[in-house]
Amino acid sequence: MIETEDACVAGCYRCILSYFNQPDHELIDRRNDNVISLLCELTTANESEAETASAGDPWGEAVRQWGLPTPSGLSMAGIQLPLFWPAKGVLAVPGGASPELVNEAAALGILDVIDLPDRPAEHAPAELLIALGVSR
Ligand SMILES: [Zn+2]
Repeated sequence: MIETEDACVAGCYRCILSYFNQPDHELIDRRNDNVISLLCELTTANESEAETASAGDPWGEAVRQWGLPTPSGLSMAGIQLPLFWPAKGVLAVPGGASPELVNEAAALGILDVIDLPDRPAEHAPAELLIALGVSR
């Protein structure tokens, strides 16, 4: 069947489908509500706002004390996530990430999602150090 421009709904070879993303063609859907809302939120994402939100946050404070790289904030699915290291592709979530959050992160290409306890302990979690490439 020849796909015309009018027929493009989920995606076609005129826009986002290509030979290179062929293994993902079944997953690609421009109509996906989660992706649409996530992209809409990204258009108004504000890094400095997220940084402000992390001020006074025990994890933000702990990360500074441990001498870890300074995280950037990320707003995703209406949730402020202050512990995101874009250069490393690492997202750490105090209290643990929900499966939905892990999926949305994966949709953004963030595959390293680390569950943290609700409150920081005395020492940085080993999993976080390894993900950030910090050796102790
Ligand atoms: Zn298309």
